[in-house]
Amino acid sequence: MNKNSSNIMALAPNTSNKRETVCIFGTGDFGRALGHKMIQSGYPVVYGSRSTQISSLVPRDAEVLSHAEAAQKAAIIIIAIQRQHYNFLIPLAEILRGKVLVDISNNLKLNQYPESNAEYLAQLLPGSRVVKAFNTVSAWALQSGTLDASRQVFVCGDDVEAKQMVMNIVRALGLTPLDKGSLLAAQEIENYPLQLFPMWKLPIFLSLGLTAFFFLYCLALDVIYTYIYEKNNFSFFIAITIPNRVCPVMALILLALVYLPGIFAAIIQLYRGTKYRRFPDWLDKWMLCRKQLGLIALAFASLHVVFTLVTPMRAFVNWRISKGIISQALNNKTEPLNITNAWISDTYLSLGILGFFLFVLLGITSLPSVSNNVNWREFRFVQSKLGYLALILSTAHTLVYGGKWFLSPSAYKWYLPNIYMLSLVVPCAVLVVKFVLIFPCVDKPLTQIRQGWERNPKHSE
Ligand code: NAP
Repeated sequence: MNKNSSNIMALAPNTSNKRETVCIFGTGDFGRALGHKMIQSGYPVVYGSRSTQISSLVPRDAEVLSHAEAAQKAAIIIIAIQRQHYNFLIPLAEILRGKVLVDISNNLKLNQYPESNAEYLAQLLPGSRVVKAFNTVSAWALQSGTLDASRQVFVCGDDVEAKQMVMNIVRALGLTPLDKGSLLAAQEIENYPLQLFPMWKLPIFLSLGLTAFFFLYCLALDVIYTYIYEKNNFSFFIAITIPNRVCPVMALILLALVYLPGIFAAIIQLYRGTKYRRFPDWLDKWMLCRKQLGLIALAFASLHVVFTLVTPMRAFVNWRISKGIISQALNNKTEPLNITNAWISDTYLSLGILGFFLFVLLGITSLPSVSNNVNWREFRFVQSKLGYLALILSTAHTLVYGGKWFLSPSAYKWYLPNIYMLSLVVPCAVLVVKFVLIFPCVDKPLTQIRQGWERNPKHSE
């Protein structure tokens, strides 16, 4: 076959409904699964294999030929072979010239090689047009059709036309192509399936550490102290009372930690007088996981709501209420309604409800399906302005609820402050500094810096 004819095939627009033949090198798990899906979608498939003996596992309607023969039958060749075997392609360089080679390979470790597999393939076969695609889809998902989580196919490559041809195939298979740009993006795409919740690690470890600390803190003060000094066995507090103390504390602290890096960033920019210097690494990492911190905070707040709603069902609460009623009946007197207490309780409940409502709104707007439908200004308004309002309401909710403890000596068991007091440190610090930052004398230079003004410009004329 004329070796240029395949190039013409690649460039000619598909005027009929008939799909172009696709060649797949490798009859392994992925090659077979992809071939099966392609045949279902109407593509004639030809396999290039070391053995041309047809195995029962290979899709029935596909042809199996030698690599050289199969490559000549198609303009697009999918390389379903591990990177370490790519050397066998070098003798086929002439046949593969001008063809679109789709690199679908993954590695076993992050950044395993100095260059991505797709760039390596392009170096081995400089005459071919290499496109990276399909590596984030698993053979099992392709075969079983359970592609819900991996419908998105990242595609990158230096040849725009070749990339377009591959994206058309992706669409024809019922998947969604996502153009990630040039072949330089291949390393990132290859690292993607190896990552395990990279943005969640820090928030999860931080939350686990803080939860364990506050849980043990409450256990010591509410169960062990009471047992030692008051001879009361309140060990059942472990089930609901302590979690319902830890959850709101965690929600409030984590919400404050969402806004704290923004405060640090503003202080650093004011101090340096420029926005053109990188933030320290720890601050960059912290800023990148704010959404995750916020979502964990929302989970704690939701648990707090559920734990609070079951309060009337608790035996301990019912016992305490009936004890109060019986003692009033025995003394033959009714306690008058304490209006101050009624105000405090209604105010803190109302603040909590409003704070939680805003918290849920923040969580909803962080969902990609919602955030994709709002512009940058609207997103900033919800996440920043309403976010701060949620922090103010939640801090006020805790202050009103726990305020009475500040002056009460009984709150300082073993001279330690109550958990509510501890939970207020970070949010109050964030709100006070934010209040200072919105003063015009501070806000004006900060806004100028963020618009590109520099105190000591390096390139002054
Ligand atoms: P596999 O089942 O081991 O198949 C690899 C195929 O490569 C073999 O069946 C063989 O095909 C061919 N091959 C093996 N050694 C060779 C050599 N020395 N020279 C030439 N060809 C050779 O692997 P796989 O799971 O299909 O994975 C193939 C590629 O897809 C890998 O790069 C993997 O990272 C990528 N991938 C796999 C999945 C998945 O879920 N499995 C998902 C995404 C990406 P023949 O016997 O027909 O020659």
